[in-house]
Amino acid sequence: MQKKPFVNLDKLNEIISEYPTPFHLYDEAGIRATAKAVNNAFSWNPGFREYFAVKACPNPYILKLLKEEGCGVDCASIPELMLAHAVGFEGDEIMFSSNETKAEEYEFARKMNAIINLDDITHIDFLAAHGGLPEKICLRFNPGGDLNIGETCMGHPDEAKYGMTRSQILEAARILSQRGVKSFGVHALLASNATERHYYPENAAILFSLAAEMHQTLGVDIFMVNLSGGVGIAYLPEEETPDIAQVGADVQTEFQRILVAAGLPNVHVASELGRYVTGPHGCLVTTAIHEKHIYREYIGVDACAVDLMRPAMYGAYHHISVMGKLDAPKDHIYDVVGSLCENNDKFAVQRPLPKIDMGDVLVIHDAGAHGYSMGYNYNGKLKSAEILLHSDGSFSMIRRAEKPRDYFATLDFSEFAPELLS
Ligand SMILES: *Cc1c(COP(=O)(O)O)cnc(C)c1O
Repeated sequence: MQKKPFVNLDKLNEIISEYPTPFHLYDEAGIRATAKAVNNAFSWNPGFREYFAVKACPNPYILKLLKEEGCGVDCASIPELMLAHAVGFEGDEIMFSSNETKAEEYEFARKMNAIINLDDITHIDFLAAHGGLPEKICLRFNPGGDLNIGETCMGHPDEAKYGMTRSQILEAARILSQRGVKSFGVHALLASNATERHYYPENAAILFSLAAEMHQTLGVDIFMVNLSGGVGIAYLPEEETPDIAQVGADVQTEFQRILVAAGLPNVHVASELGRYVTGPHGCLVTTAIHEKHIYREYIGVDACAVDLMRPAMYGAYHHISVMGKLDAPKDHIYDVVGSLCENNDKFAVQRPLPKIDMGDVLVIHDAGAHGYSMGYNYNGKLKSAEILLHSDGSFSMIRRAEKPRDYFATLDFSEFAPELLS
């Protein structure tokens, strides 16, 4: 299937005339449509809530759109909780799915009345001492082993640092209910970018069974089963993004089979999707500024791995459209590279693309989740701006590009170069 940018060259040129490349561009209409599709897919469960994983796209303007679509948020740090607060999320609208949590993080999350997702049995006393035990709490499960669906291995929970074993989670629930906790949720994130549509239903079956067991053996109340994130998107043109309506219907089948049968028809299902919700609806827009011809053909662009590190970090494929040449033959082979003094700073390696001329605008697809947010400042490279393309075709800058003074903000220059402090 051909991957098409959500924006055309005329609109891009209009944006670029106000805001120079590189920048991340987000598509309001696409984000809203996907949030609606997720909510529709689970509308059979009256208490369903998608807690958008803030780390995927931590911009308050994006979080505000999602709030308007009825989503909550999933946070794991104080600044993420602050973002949630700034946008107006409170209490049950916030999951705090942290791990290796600091005392002040638990205290902050408890003050906001966020739902605590406890990563380990040893955190019971720690949370009791720092913030206090809540009336309802979520427990994070790690089933161990490999996660196999048919012949496909989708993940290795036994290598993951998260969650508790089955016996620990039952023991934690027993201890917590003795200490006054009234109701429990269970949570697991067992795969990442799972484009296999059976991932979510499989995770649901595992968690529904655990919840039923907790209810039956300990007599505890269950308020939520949180399927967390991990539903994938099609980064490659030949891949397919799972149909969320189908996924929701398959989760419903497991809900009927396990939870309704166990006498738990009122449990709320929750998700913490990040990538699925915003991933395809953001792109990195960059300009070709250099070409070099050595052992390979290189196109140097004005963005680098600081703006999108998934290719450098995971060797991840991100589709590239050369704007104005969408239907041109892909008769050149390029490495499309950024400016870091690191040879893994390559947005594309040996990629067939149309002939690229200097000044061409390149759209790097599927950067809307774990894109800007993973950025860093290696080599003193400054992070790009973020622009939101509104549903009506207008656009606004929702985060300015970094300036040198942002890079220097944590230094005290008074001894070295007072003139930089101006
Ligand atoms: C990262 C993360 C998510 C979101 O993952 P996606 O792959 O973006 O869906 C959800 N929940 C938790 C606890 C996470 O760490």
